[in-house]
Amino acid sequence: MNDVKVIGKKIIRLEEVDSTNRYAKDIAPEAPEGTVVVARRQSSGRGRLGRRWESPEGGLWLSVILKPEKPDLRLVFIGGLAVVDTLLDFGLQGGIKWPNDVWVNGKKISGVLTEGKGNDYVLLGIGLNVNNPLPPELSGSATSMMLEIGRAVTLERVLDKLLFHLDVWYTIYRERPDLLMARLRERTFILGRTVRVTEGETTMIGRALDVLDDGSLLLEVGGELKRILYGDVSLRPV
Ligand code: ADP
Repeated sequence: MNDVKVIGKKIIRLEEVDSTNRYAKDIAPEAPEGTVVVARRQSSGRGRLGRRWESPEGGLWLSVILKPEKPDLRLVFIGGLAVVDTLLDFGLQGGIKWPNDVWVNGKKISGVLTEGKGNDYVLLGIGLNVNNPLPPELSGSATSMMLEIGRAVTLERVLDKLLFHLDVWYTIYRERPDLLMARLRERTFILGRTVRVTEGETTMIGRALDVLDDGSLLLEVGGELKRILYGDVSLRPV
């Protein structure tokens, strides 16, 4: 068992819930910082912009309640970095698709979502495909630890590792955000690559150059530099 500091000191385990972020939001005002809500299944797991997140039994679906002094948009990166480190513990090489997904071998294995209420709290939601089945329509774009490793892995071990890495990255976020951003740049596999960015009806194609210190993406489009703020953008490597 790892020596858990803040994240995971308290773990609420649910059989089924509509969404762990929704449940966490209800208890967040009173819950101690670092409280984790983990469910075997989510009946209506959500991605960004209200998109559906498939979360049947066998995967890791959790939310962490964080109460940092100064929350900012970079908090979402601790999720991706912790997932990448967890995958490495199981021999898998993952990369961050800025801002909030983790991919392995060209497919999405994990999604991270932050939701907050002013400066009161931030909910960090993480979905990681472990042993769960994936619906046929996602078979071309999604993968799981089981598919990549070739056998099922113990969910509890994955949870234990993930909470450990989240705790480490949360400490680094608060004390040395420069180190967090440096590692994020190393782990962001789209840098140097051509990507398609869609925001509402608008689409642009450009080269992802860097992630700036505030967490935004620097994109070169037809010789011009653009700063992409996350929020409502969808991004795909092309
Ligand atoms: P984006 O990749 O554009 O950032 P989101 O983070 O909003 O998307 O995640 C939602 C999308 O992820 C869904 O529209 C669907 O295509 C895909 N998806 C849903 N469930 C899963 C899952 N368990 N694993 C991988 N991808 C999923």
